[in-house]
Amino acid sequence: MTLPEIEAELAALGEAKFRAKQVYEWLGRGVRSFDRMSNLPLSLREKLKESFHLYEPKVLSKQVSQIDGTIKYLWELYDGNAVETVVMSYQHGNTVCVSCQVGCRQGCAFCASTIGGLVRSLNASEILDEVLFSQLDSGKKISNIVLMGIGEPLDNFDNVMRFLELVNDPAGMNIGMRHISLSTCGIIERFDDLADRDLQLTLTVSLHAPDDETRSRLMPANRGRGVDKLMDACKRYYERTGRRISFEYAMIDGVNDTEKHARLLAKRAKSVGAHVNLIPLNHVEEREFKPSTSGHMKAFIKILEDEKVNVTVRRRLGSDVDASCGQLRRKMQKQNS
Ligand code: SAH
Repeated sequence: MTLPEIEAELAALGEAKFRAKQVYEWLGRGVRSFDRMSNLPLSLREKLKESFHLYEPKVLSKQVSQIDGTIKYLWELYDGNAVETVVMSYQHGNTVCVSCQVGCRQGCAFCASTIGGLVRSLNASEILDEVLFSQLDSGKKISNIVLMGIGEPLDNFDNVMRFLELVNDPAGMNIGMRHISLSTCGIIERFDDLADRDLQLTLTVSLHAPDDETRSRLMPANRGRGVDKLMDACKRYYERTGRRISFEYAMIDGVNDTEKHARLLAKRAKSVGAHVNLIPLNHVEEREFKPSTSGHMKAFIKILEDEKVNVTVRRRLGSDVDASCGQLRRKMQKQNS
């Protein structure tokens, strides 16, 4: 809840306004037991216990990269499910990558998160807790958020919007929308809803292929939608919000990394003024795909640059801690079975 919402709840219980601020501060410090809120009268603590439920996510696993300090958490949720969160340190600050669902129903052929399908969506406070508890546990002040963990944010729209409102709360974590990226596999039916919210966040589209044949093979979400319609939706989003879209493109050996793909990708990116972020594919044990060779990547980048496309290559962080989508949760599932 936001501070004004807690104030309203406490007013309904006949409590003074300043009590709300006390509760809010405890929650922001990660205190998840009313008994430990020592500046509240005992009677109020009892009342709160009757009306509200608090949960503290537990660290099931924490891996710290020896190479670059990236931290990967596996959190246990209230119902025993688990999701991953990654904390990455960059020169411009610390970025947290959060999950928004337990599993995923999008079925991308190269991704580990979707292997067991969707179990359930996270609620807003569970997503918020990923940010808060990662910050508290790591001692690293979080300044940027990417919704690029497990799950599809636009398939959990209401909870993700509520999460954004909470994490943006000036009295709380106060993370600005311009420091938040939301990544989607292309659920275009939701682009207008997102634009309606008029947020200043960055919309990132996982493109991974510029043509329907390749994209539908890699991403079932493309089937029945198609790249042309995706581009129309991107263009419309850009026109409505003035916010430049970013395309994610995981380079897969022999699948989407030919000259033909590069030329079409350049055309697509220019048609919507998008920035292209190339990612060397992370190898996932269960998947047959391999990352592109550095030679192919160089040739690909050159074509994009010659076409004057704004292109960057994502630096790999945490390669020794299973720090890409769904791999840690997957490992735990395999151990349990
Ligand atoms: N469902 C959203 C959010 C997930 S973000 C989306 O599809 O955008 C995770 C990003 O990592 C997506 O761009 C996804 O396509 C990409 N990804 C998944 N598996 C990968 C892998 N093995 N190597 C590189 N990128 C991968």
